[in-house]
Amino acid sequence: MGEFELISTYFARSAARRDDVALGIGDDCALLVPPAGAQLAVSIDTLVEGVHFLPGSDPALIAERLLGAAVSDLAAMAAEPAWFTLALTLPVADPDWLEPFAAALARRAAELNIALVGGDTTRGPLALSVQVHGWVKANEALTRSGAREGDLVLVSGTLGDSRGGLQVQLDSDQSASSAYLRQRFFRPEPRIALARGLCRYASAAIDLSDGLVSDLGHIARQSGLAARIDLERLPLSAELEAYAGAEKARQWALSGGEDFELCLTIAPEQLEACLSVAESLQLPLTCVGQMHAGNGVSVFCDGQPWNSSAQGYDHFGVLDGVFDGEQR
Ligand code: ADP
Ligand code: MG
Repeated sequence: MGEFELISTYFARSAARRDDVALGIGDDCALLVPPAGAQLAVSIDTLVEGVHFLPGSDPALIAERLLGAAVSDLAAMAAEPAWFTLALTLPVADPDWLEPFAAALARRAAELNIALVGGDTTRGPLALSVQVHGWVKANEALTRSGAREGDLVLVSGTLGDSRGGLQVQLDSDQSASSAYLRQRFFRPEPRIALARGLCRYASAAIDLSDGLVSDLGHIARQSGLAARIDLERLPLSAELEAYAGAEKARQWALSGGEDFELCLTIAPEQLEACLSVAESLQLPLTCVGQMHAGNGVSVFCDGQPWNSSAQGYDHFGVLDGVFDGEQR
């Protein structure tokens, strides 16, 4: 199969239609129509076989993870997803891989209301890049640098599940908890609606890709502040605690990475309004700490400074060099 046949067979037909795509796949560029007065939010993410997912992973799951992780960056800015491009490097043009990949990508793109408008296809070791484009009103974008002293630190959903989902794969586990955890690894759910609902209250935001300690550290540094995390407040799923035990679950919640939940800072008087936004979306939103003067991120447990080797980042050590997480 040639490059052009591959593109038209698998990608052109699955490009969702949006009114703001003046010209999609098939020309030298796509032509897109951002709403008047909006800023474009642009971000790119890459997955490499053996680095970000185990060789032989289900192509449909790879597609869902690729798009979910990329769109999560739009959520972190409170941007609306609109368009994406796909750079695909494939060792062979294998229909048994391409068909489920393209079908899952199209399905997930429709769910996320984001349209495939172009890309690039090359031969080589399996690697996938998605560049997402969204838009946000100029004064509504959430950045990492806006946190203020005394702000509360909130996180959406539950933390550590994705690291649990990786462990489940390594252990080839089939227990009751494993399906949920595997899904949390492969199917990030970008918190677009939550971010849109909270953008008028939040002072800063980031999506959790490297783990709470690391990512909250970015907000702290870029806001010129320190952050404190209260370990006992971290939201954990019953499935993660059942699978990993309470101690490892907390460690993974702190530093496991790739949960793609939102971490936001808000002034304390905004807490009730934020909780009711989350409740209306039926999404957990938990206060896990506070910003204060200084620098760095510290962890407390039941009011006492918490010192443990577990406080360091989890470098997916079991997989070093084989399956190493992003930026590790
Ligand atoms: P050019 O050589 O001008 O860069 P290409 O031949 O690479 O164009 O691509 C032809 C068209 O197909 C372009 O519109 C491009 O955006 C699109 N395209 C290429 N690969 C993909 C892909 N994997 N997914 C979606 N669109 C793609
Ligand atoms: Mg060209």
